Amino acid sequence: MKKSKLIKKPKVKEVKSEKAGAEPVKKVIATPQALRGMKDILPADQPFWLFLTDKARALAKSYSFEKIETPVLEEAGLFIRSVGKETDIVEKEMYVFEDLDGAKIALRPEATASIVRAYLNHGMWNLPQPVRLWYQGPMFRHERPQSGRYRQFFQLGFEILGDANPVSDALLILVASNLYKELGINTSIQLNSIGCPTCREVYKNELVNHYKAHRSKVCESCKKRMQRNPLRLLDCKEEQCQAVKKEIPQILDFLCDPCRKHFMSVLEYLEELGLPYFLNNTLVRGLDYYNRTVFEIYSVGNDGAAQSALGGGGRYDYLAETLGGRTTPACGFAIGLERTANKIKEVNPALAEKEKIDIFIAQLGDLARRKAMVLFESFRRAGVKVAEDFCRTGLRAQLEIADKLGARYTLIVGQKEVQDGTVIIRDMESGVQEIIDFNKAVADLQKKLFLNAA
Ligand code: AMP
Repeated sequence: MKKSKLIKKPKVKEVKSEKAGAEPVKKVIATPQALRGMKDILPADQPFWLFLTDKARALAKSYSFEKIETPVLEEAGLFIRSVGKETDIVEKEMYVFEDLDGAKIALRPEATASIVRAYLNHGMWNLPQPVRLWYQGPMFRHERPQSGRYRQFFQLGFEILGDANPVSDALLILVASNLYKELGINTSIQLNSIGCPTCREVYKNELVNHYKAHRSKVCESCKKRMQRNPLRLLDCKEEQCQAVKKEIPQILDFLCDPCRKHFMSVLEYLEELGLPYFLNNTLVRGLDYYNRTVFEIYSVGNDGAAQSALGGGGRYDYLAETLGGRTTPACGFAIGLERTANKIKEVNPALAEKEKIDIFIAQLGDLARRKAMVLFESFRRAGVKVAEDFCRTGLRAQLEIADKLGARYTLIVGQKEVQDGTVIIRDMESGVQEIIDFNKAVADLQKKLFLNAA
């Protein structure tokens, strides 16, 4: 089997045998590392992720989107047919393998195709239309890892299936925009229409003619794109192609009447809602299933300049048919959670600060620890913000932790208190201590906390 460059060779260490004069034994001791482009999301990052997913969940509820979860593994054919054979995602980035039954399986590179599959598999066209769904989960693309680009990354997305009306396009842009507003992130929306298969074909010919006239000036990849996937010409970032790209025919000039009307209507909704947008005539998105409206959400720096793409989406009216289903006009968008969580961290680092607790429970001795655990449970059940560190034994160490956690009171249970059926309350501000009845501790402390808050 060919060795993967991805997995580092384990370090080998010589370990001395117990027996005198024996040969050292070779032992593999290297700890496995996460794969390249895959990362752990550590506790320190969780507050930003949680903030993001809580806001998304709340917005989904406000706009009546229901949650759906689909498997991370799908038939590879699902993505080849929907995302497109000649897209970067399918051609270069998709994790495809044969499973033990010999079936060609893919780790999902995106979720829209899976959601349309689920819509068709479960006969969701029988439900009142449109069906509004949202999802969240890991996606996999074998991309070159770099800042903000991973091989396993998370997306969260909203889809409206079964509606051709431009109001749905506008509603999704509104939801995306509101999500970022509520997260405290400045964004700008870039928008384009790539028409329907008929008018897009006319545009593609015009675009290829333009590139043919300047063939000698463009990069080798663009020469290939002219034949294989002309719309991808608009994605080229090569310096040498920029002058030719600047002079391209405008796709909006080639839209057929129904496509133009649809796009105008989307713009009218956005204007009515006071949602600013920028028209971007080179925005085409990297997936074949899109038609008509396409959009991307960019974060905006303090200087007002658009930075990296946080998310994107558009209409995919033909995708259900491509997958053998009935005609189902639809649209959706997805955002990247890593990039969005990083932005949240930038604009709102205070989210990582730990919430202060009301009560810390300290204990001295084995018997006291058992009673303290019972006390902790009573406070927790009563909804009081309570903490402990039952692994510690010294009172000083426990009081320091209580202080660090911002506890208002520390309850101390020692051997004597266990015998007397009491507990000591220490006011962490004044240092004053008093003794109360063990069984009345929850009620007494709730009263004190209530009076403090009043
Ligand atoms: P796309 O549909 O490919 O435009 O992806 C939508 C969003 O997902 C992007 O704007 C990114 O925020 C995020 N995304 C896409 N690919 C990656 C990746 N390889 N690593 C991290 N985030 C990604």
